[in-house]
Amino acid sequence: MKTILILEDDENLSRGIAFTFERDGYHTFSAGNIKNGKRMLEQHKIDLIILDLGLPDGNGIDFCKEIRTYSKIPIIMLTACDLETDEVSGLLAGADDYITKPFSLSILRARVEALLRRTEDESPHVMVSGKFRMNVDLCKFFRENEEIPISTTEYRLLSFLMINAGQVLSKEQILSSLWDNEGNFVDENTLPVNISRLRAKLEEDPKNPQIIKTVHGIGYIWNGGV
Ligand code: CA
Repeated sequence: MKTILILEDDENLSRGIAFTFERDGYHTFSAGNIKNGKRMLEQHKIDLIILDLGLPDGNGIDFCKEIRTYSKIPIIMLTACDLETDEVSGLLAGADDYITKPFSLSILRARVEALLRRTEDESPHVMVSGKFRMNVDLCKFFRENEEIPISTTEYRLLSFLMINAGQVLSKEQILSSLWDNEGNFVDENTLPVNISRLRAKLEEDPKNPQIIKTVHGIGYIWNGGV
């Protein structure tokens, strides 16, 4: 079942949207401000966000930009004004689509369905290896259904290892893939330090790692299972 987060402070409109999508078989969460929306996004698996432009504790464009720093989750913006500049800046903030108020709920439904169809075919949002699961949209990592908290660096390292599961990766390969884009200098210790942090979180016996194995003289290999 697909889950939609409705971030809209107009309660009647929010209820109408929730009713329409629940009736269509979606699961919905509703929030009237950014603070609550953020909390729901952290706590639940959300497939799409309907995001109002004007919210009591901030504006939808800024929130959309913030979401885009860590997630590709589909976003439809609801804009109250039909000024072209607003629409353009909304889209530049990374929204996938927008609708100008007032709109009919059947049009919103059609847009949501089209957007979900479009984004479903894109690169996988979840990587699975054995009992481990990485939600790429939310940068969250799970063992079975239990979330394992990881830092941004650990997330990048883990993604690279999991994408290349079963392949021996040299230390140089790992380091360059992790930090090239940022251009930040990283000293040699960063890799072993982060590897041992991850092992402490993932391995049954971190001293005898079976999931992130060391390949002596070369680097590491992800052995989390298929
Ligand atoms: Ca509003």
